[in-house]
Amino acid sequence: MSFVPTEKIWMNGKLINWAEAKIHVLSHVVHYGSSVFEGIRCYNTKQGPAVFRLQAHTERLFNSAKIYRMEVPYTQEQIDKAIIETIQVNKLEECYIRPIIYRGYDHLGVDPTGCPIDVAIAVYKWGKYLQNSTACVSSWMRIAPNTMPAMSKCGANYMNSQLIKLEALSHGYGEGIALDVSGYVSEGSGENIFIVRDSALITPPYAASILPGITRNTVIAIAQEMGLKVIEENIPREALYVADEVFFTGTAAEISPVTHIDKIKIGCGEVGKTTRTLVERFRKVVTAEDPEKLHWLTFLNQR
Ligand code: PMP
Repeated sequence: MSFVPTEKIWMNGKLINWAEAKIHVLSHVVHYGSSVFEGIRCYNTKQGPAVFRLQAHTERLFNSAKIYRMEVPYTQEQIDKAIIETIQVNKLEECYIRPIIYRGYDHLGVDPTGCPIDVAIAVYKWGKYLQNSTACVSSWMRIAPNTMPAMSKCGANYMNSQLIKLEALSHGYGEGIALDVSGYVSEGSGENIFIVRDSALITPPYAASILPGITRNTVIAIAQEMGLKVIEENIPREALYVADEVFFTGTAAEISPVTHIDKIKIGCGEVGKTTRTLVERFRKVVTAEDPEKLHWLTFLNQR
């Protein structure tokens, strides 16, 4: 879906018009994929707009930058403030938030030393991410350990994600599931994955080249509170097919059920009970209807 522009984008400390938020074609990031970024959501709640798990996202953003030796010219608190300011100035109640740190324009060559570290924050409307509940196991593997660090949400990692996504779409599936270099289940092109088996949740560990998802972390916490057992362990491909339920988690995807994988019905081929319950709990949490979880929300109106 094409962008519906908002008014302002925050770029290196200034709010500028959407149409003017441009970079030079010879910027380092364009040629070598040298960016780290986040995807965050702001939800409309009864107490006004609230950003979900803002600090967890900016912390991961700064960790992503640290892995690539990028020195961010702002503090985490300054970025948090800039995110809030950008939502407010655009008068949005509900939006997707995309902060990005990238190596900018100075010279080209693999060595980025001397290229500025630029920062931008855009906010815009983004509804449902996954269009259907089907997936395939990708013929593309997830990035191997000690090649591209999966823990860094780096722009270049998404070339691997694009291979997974485009292959899945070209075969008529909604999403692809990548295996890791050992053949165990890793994650979707832009989501973590869970299986439900005998009322327990099983999800791949960090060692399976996954992004440490904030929605994954949220689901683990709320599932444990609901009394469900959560296990982080290697999942063989065939365990997907015989699972009772499968779902993806991600900021864009939220909790998205997967009802068919490689055209095999998962469970009865419909959204399962555990997934449905988690979706309902998650919605309560993000819309400030769970008083125990208000600390995960940053309310815009309180500033
Ligand atoms: N894995 C990948 C590859 C992703 O792009 C995302 C989306 N950021 C996730 C997992 C889920 O992470 P989160 O729940 O923090 O959005």
